[in-house]
Amino acid sequence: MEAEPSQAADAPKRVGEADLRRAYVHLAEAQRLSQTGSFTWDFDRSELLWSEELCRIFEFDPATPVSVERVQQFVHPQDLSVFGATVEGAAAGVDIDLSYRIVTAGGVVKHLHAVGHRIEHPGERPVFIGAVQDVTDRKVAEEALNKARAELAHVARVATLSALTASIAHEVNQPLTSLVTNASTCVRMLAADPPDLELARTTAQRTIRDAHRASEVIQRLRAMFTRKAAATEAVDLNEAAREVLALSASELQGAGVILRTEFAADLPSVRGDRVQLQQVILNLVLNAADAMRAVEGRQRRMWLTTGFDAPEQVRLSVRDEGTGIEPQDLERLFDAFFTTKSEGMGIGLSISRSIIQGHGGRLWAASNDGGPGATFSFQIPGDGMAPAEAGTKGAER
Ligand code: ADP
Repeated sequence: MEAEPSQAADAPKRVGEADLRRAYVHLAEAQRLSQTGSFTWDFDRSELLWSEELCRIFEFDPATPVSVERVQQFVHPQDLSVFGATVEGAAAGVDIDLSYRIVTAGGVVKHLHAVGHRIEHPGERPVFIGAVQDVTDRKVAEEALNKARAELAHVARVATLSALTASIAHEVNQPLTSLVTNASTCVRMLAADPPDLELARTTAQRTIRDAHRASEVIQRLRAMFTRKAAATEAVDLNEAAREVLALSASELQGAGVILRTEFAADLPSVRGDRVQLQQVILNLVLNAADAMRAVEGRQRRMWLTTGFDAPEQVRLSVRDEGTGIEPQDLERLFDAFFTTKSEGMGIGLSISRSIIQGHGGRLWAASNDGGPGATFSFQIPGDGMAPAEAGTKGAER
C-alpha cells in the first residue's frame, strides 16, 4: 500500500508562501532559459493550464484561457492529423513524444517537441502533465548542416563528372587518333595504286571526317569541364579540416571511429580552392573510416594531423589503423576506377590527387610502420613561406 504524501518528519520547516513564490520565479526563469514550457491537463474538468513560457512560445496572451481547440488552430496544417491523433492518445492515457510545427498569429513557423504522461496520485484526479520545447533554432541549424552536406555532395558529383569526362576523353582519343592515321594511309595507298577504286576512297574519307567529328565532340566536352582557373584564396588547412570533421562527425561516430587531431599552431595558409581541398580531406577521412569498418577486437583509431615540412611545405595527414594496403597497390590506388569496395567507384583518390597536383603539391599513401593501417598525406606549398632572406635578418654580431 502506498502511504499518503506527508511532510517528512525531519523536514526543516514547512514551505511558506515566500518559498513557493521564489520557486515559481526560478521555475519560470529556467523555462525561459531552456525555451521549454509546461502544461497540465485535467481531463475530468477539461482544464488546461499553461506555464508563462508555453504562452510565450505560442504567442498567446496568458490571461486568455487555453483549450485544445484553440491550440489546434495554430498547428501547422501538415502536422494537424498527427497532432490530433496524439491528443486523442493522451486523453486515453498514452504517453506523448511528438515533434510538430505551429504557425503563430504573427505568421512565424516554430518547431516544437512535446513530451508528456499521465500521473495519478492516490486520492487525486488523474492529470496529464507535459513539457513543450521550442527547438526551432536547432532545426534551423540542422537544416543548414544538411544544406552544407548536400552542397558538398554536389561539388563531389561535379568533380566526379569532370574526372570521368577527362578519362573518357583520354581513353577514346587514342583510338580515334590511330583511326585517322590508318584511314589516311589507306587513302594514300589507294590513290597510288588502283585504277578505279573511287568508292573505297570516298568511304575512307568519310571515315576520316567522322573520326574528326567524334574527336571534336570529345574535345568540346573536355573544354567544358576544364576549370579555366581554380578559385584561389588563402586557405587555413586547420580550419578547413575542422569544418570537414564537423560535417562528417556523425558518419565517423556511426563507424565507431575514435578521432584524434593534432593541428600545428601558426600553420601558414595555402593558396587554393577551399572547397576542392575540403573535398580531398573528406575523401581521405571517409576512406580511413571505411578501412576500419571491418576491424573488430581493437579500437578504430584515426589521427588527423597538420604540420610543416621543410622547406616550404604545409602537410596534412590522415592515419588509420584499418586493413592497410598491399605494397603492390600503393600506387594503383590512385588510378581512376581502382576500388576494392563492393559499392566503390574508385575515383575519389584519383580526383584528390589531381586536385592536390593542381595546387602544386603531392598526395601519397604509405603503410604504417610497425602497426596496422595506412597513412595518406598531402603537401602543398605554404602561402608566403619564402625561404628566409638574408636581407631581412638583423645584422650579425
Ligand atoms: P573508393 O573509395 O570508391 O573505392 P578511392 O579512389 O577513394 O575510391 O579509393 C580507392 C581504393 O583505395 C579503395 O577502394 C581502397 O581499396 C583503397 N584505400 C583508400 N583509402 C584507404 C585506406 N585508408 N586504407 C586502405 N585502403 C584504402
